[in-house]
Amino acid sequence: MALIVQKFGGTSVGSTEKIKNVAKRVLRSQQQGRQMVVVLSAMSGQTDKLISMAAEMQPLPDLREMDMLLATGEQVTVALFAMAVKAAGSDAVSLLGDQVRILTEARHTKARIREIDTELIRKHLDAGKVVVVAGFQGVTEDGDITTLGRGGSDTTAVALAAALKADSCEIYTDVEGVYTTDPNICAQARKIDMITYDEMLELASLGAKVLEIRSVGLAKRYSVPLHVRSTFSENEGTWVVEEDRIMESMLVSGITYSRKEARITIKGVPDQPGVASKIFQPISNAGIMVDMIIQNTREGQLTDITFTVLRADYLRTMDILKQTAAVVGAESVTGDESIAKISIVGVGMRNHSGIASTMFQVMANEGINIMMIATSEIKVSCIIAEKYTELAVRSLHAAFALDKTKPPVEE
Ligand code: ASP
Ligand code: MG
Repeated sequence: MALIVQKFGGTSVGSTEKIKNVAKRVLRSQQQGRQMVVVLSAMSGQTDKLISMAAEMQPLPDLREMDMLLATGEQVTVALFAMAVKAAGSDAVSLLGDQVRILTEARHTKARIREIDTELIRKHLDAGKVVVVAGFQGVTEDGDITTLGRGGSDTTAVALAAALKADSCEIYTDVEGVYTTDPNICAQARKIDMITYDEMLELASLGAKVLEIRSVGLAKRYSVPLHVRSTFSENEGTWVVEEDRIMESMLVSGITYSRKEARITIKGVPDQPGVASKIFQPISNAGIMVDMIIQNTREGQLTDITFTVLRADYLRTMDILKQTAAVVGAESVTGDESIAKISIVGVGMRNHSGIASTMFQVMANEGINIMMIATSEIKVSCIIAEKYTELAVRSLHAAFALDKTKPPVEE
């Protein structure tokens, strides 16, 4: 019998009425002859509410107690859900992370799953029950409750699907799937039917919010087919699968943007061994993540280094860098907070040249200056002035014909 793991996010279980509807939907799947494991988030807004209550108790809440508190959000929805299934004349059982035994590391509020015991779940499935598991939580070897980090219910669902060798893992959310770009800024954005794990990883890390990134990495590692779809319609959503399952891959699958970054330049540093290390060591010691880095050597043994950090870290990084500049004898330190990173992503880029140059041409046609460029095997990113974000996204979307269904790769 097919086994499906279905995960419903906070907006899908945001009220008792919604929970009843989701229960009916799960039962329809079960009646088609499937064993059903359901993973739920807390009601939308609940986790945030708990976090702010904790802050009223302690400015920096104790992490063990934080996990005790946060895990309650999901306990509410799984219990209500099991009741809804029973009221509809079927049988269900709700289970918390420690009851299943989702064993995690002891890193409170950011725990990683080490192992899942499937015995209890199997027993209930074999008895014909819908098994409803609280997302986002686990337990340490010592019996302490842990949580997996924000959005962690996706990871619970994928990890369960892997452990149970489920046929697929369906992630239900409030949108129809993964889009070619953000529909809020590009009306032509289209739902993607199929995408590879690697593309999804790039899109997720570049700011697409549909799937928690850790869960995609896990799905890739264990080859769990993911289906991201809407709770509020019967339409097929987006399948995230292995590359060889996609017949017609696209040159570019999606376009993302991020307005969360800032650019910093340190000018005129001596071009000698050890300088980059002197510049970046204090930044990394401060726990600041650096994204793109460009170094340009000028004549006269001097070099300029430009890099990006999260905007939230901008002022702190500038402070650190000004101190370093004095030490290494740099000419100046300048920065720019109003930048955006625009990226195109697609596995088709691996075997086709000219994708990056098309991107640059599109920017040129729109009069948009490119400040920095970075590439990976399946991605090209450009840093531009933030005010051109929408224009760049829309023009690229049109240029790569993402509004058309399945443009085939040219041979
Ligand atoms: N309730 C948790 C959160 O809001 C986990 C989740 O919904 O995935 O982050
Ligand atoms: Mg979520």
